[in-house]
Amino acid sequence: MKLKEIYKHKDIKEKISFEIFPPKELSDYPKLITETQKLKQLNPAFISLTWNAGGCGNSSFELIKLIKAQNFNIMPHFTCISSTKNEVLKHLQELQSLNIENILALRGDIPSDKNLCKKDFCFANELVEFIKNNSNLSIAVAGYPEGHIDANSITEDIDNLKKKIDAGADAIITQLFFDNSKFYKYVELLRKKGITTPIIAGIMPILSQKQIDKMTRLANITLPDIVKENLEKYKDSPSDLQEFGIDFSSQQCQNLIESNVEGLHFFTLNKMKTSINILNNIL
Ligand code: FAD
Repeated sequence: MKLKEIYKHKDIKEKISFEIFPPKELSDYPKLITETQKLKQLNPAFISLTWNAGGCGNSSFELIKLIKAQNFNIMPHFTCISSTKNEVLKHLQELQSLNIENILALRGDIPSDKNLCKKDFCFANELVEFIKNNSNLSIAVAGYPEGHIDANSITEDIDNLKKKIDAGADAIITQLFFDNSKFYKYVELLRKKGITTPIIAGIMPILSQKQIDKMTRLANITLPDIVKENLEKYKDSPSDLQEFGIDFSSQQCQNLIESNVEGLHFFTLNKMKTSINILNNIL
């Protein structure tokens, strides 16, 4: 099912999705497939598969095939900064030959070795336009409730997001956030800008202190005091921290659902159990 159809559903249960990432080793694929099967009980709208900006080409296609064989709707991510138009075209043809219907179109982080930038695509809006002109895929793009780290201001970042929407994107999946007020403000700003596209909340379950430190530092995400306090309180007790994390995310999602969020997308980090526990608390 295409994104456009998915987000027409009224019931939030039809608009839950999950992100997974390809393990480094091919030998770990079967384990990931077994883990992913646990998500069946939640009947996800789709499972998205991250793309390694350095390129993990063929092995990523193998995983797409394996997940599709489990009867999941799969949405591969794709980053364009290190790709030529010909490479993207070939990639789109391969996806369509696998009957993939949706794609998350990204620029990707600028590589430290600038020689890796191919210059055919400088920003994600150019990729969206290219996909639109060369495929029937339905396209999601990334949105940043606290602004993208490269942007000078949230206003500038929203102007740039609008370019992706005007180029033909069907859904916005947000960067993770822990403070719902940031998300609500963002939705308000996007609607004021005339963006009517569904805005899907990106949810990152709290799995460990190291993970939260890394993610929030890299993407400049606000941590509410209650999260900071519990990260400190349970720094030597990972199981207590996870229990707090499940409670926190359950309340966060409950609040979003009560505010009519248009969809929830869980960044599972390939640890399905935590996302499942959160959803079992609220659905
Ligand atoms: P863009 O939308 O191009 O924006 C990048 C920056 O450029 C922003 O500051 C923006 O304001 C500015 N900008 C955009 N368009 C223009 C323009 N036309 N002119 C001038 N400035 C412009 N990374 C991966 O490597 N693999 C993944 O699988 C992956 N999945 C992700 C999933 C989600 C839900 C999110 C939120 C992020 C993901 N990322 C992934 C990270 C992403 O690649 C980085 O955040 C990257 O730095 C920006 O990608 P983008 O598509 O948002 O870029």
